[in-house]
Amino acid sequence: MTEFRSAEDEAAIALAARILRAGGLVAFPTETVYGLGAAADSPLAVAKIYAAKGRPSFNPLIAHVASLDAARREALLSDTALRLAEKFWPGPLTLVAPVSPQGGVCDLARAGLASVALRIPSHPRSLALLRAFGGPVAAPSANISGHVSPVTARHVEQELGGRIDLILDGGRSIAGLESTIVSFLTDEPMILRPGAITREALQNVIGGRLRGASGDSPITSPGMTASHYAPRAKLRLDALSLEPGEAGIDFAGAMRRGNARGVILDLSPTGDLTEAAANIYVFLRELDERGIDRAGVAPIPSEGLGEAIRDRLRRAAVR
Ligand code: AMP
Ligand code: MG
Repeated sequence: MTEFRSAEDEAAIALAARILRAGGLVAFPTETVYGLGAAADSPLAVAKIYAAKGRPSFNPLIAHVASLDAARREALLSDTALRLAEKFWPGPLTLVAPVSPQGGVCDLARAGLASVALRIPSHPRSLALLRAFGGPVAAPSANISGHVSPVTARHVEQELGGRIDLILDGGRSIAGLESTIVSFLTDEPMILRPGAITREALQNVIGGRLRGASGDSPITSPGMTASHYAPRAKLRLDALSLEPGEAGIDFAGAMRRGNARGVILDLSPTGDLTEAAANIYVFLRELDERGIDRAGVAPIPSEGLGEAIRDRLRRAAVR
């Protein structure tokens, strides 16, 4: 049975921490998407994440921590990594760095790699849970592997209801898109996955161009498979008009101006990429809920958050 509780409730946070300590699974809100958490130091608990999601165990998990000190116990963070951490943590940035000898994140959570992915989320209730638990929490998105990531507790229930111990409801995730992952395993830092912190914002802090993850770059990160984040509906990208039988996902009214008719959901009528990011997974799910099997998607600009939105749409379109 899956319990469903408000994340605002202190008793629910205490219950969640007890479940994590006992090796159970707790879905919790973050500012990016909902996470499916387990005690990161316990291979038995982490194995339940892979089983509940149907996720291949060669795909490593992000470990969530409550403080920079906790992050520094887990990984060897370079000066540049620390600069990014100071600027963007708590927040939707994940740093991949060599594991520290004192690190507690188990091998299974790291998929056997000598590196670890770390993040301090900014959602106040994720932080409350991490503090109450007191150790790193391994948490991928709280959905069946390959499905669209959940941005509400109800989405989590649809995906994993009955398979996990507790769902904490903390409202809709404000960013609506996963964290940006930056790797520090090579001489130059590199973006492994575009996400809710833009390349431009990272480059401003680093003072140089960041490699990686632009356009159709090859898979450089374990688990970054071509097909992912996919609805049942088949997507046709960069569409300005709709074919018969297609619904539309529009941006800034482009399809409507092109006289497209029918079911058209606009990610942001005013062309605001932050709003579009917050809506993308909600709309992909809505296609499925409405029983739509084909949709055209309007062009999304590639700067700022558009890079991550385009990345997710490209993966969602692969069958
Ligand atoms: P998510 O699927 O949102 O949990 O993000 C996890 C992703 O982070 C994985 O698919 C990898 O691409 C990346 N990642 C996690 N841990 C590591 C690691 N130790 N080394 C390299 N990439 C990692
Ligand atoms: Mg995921």
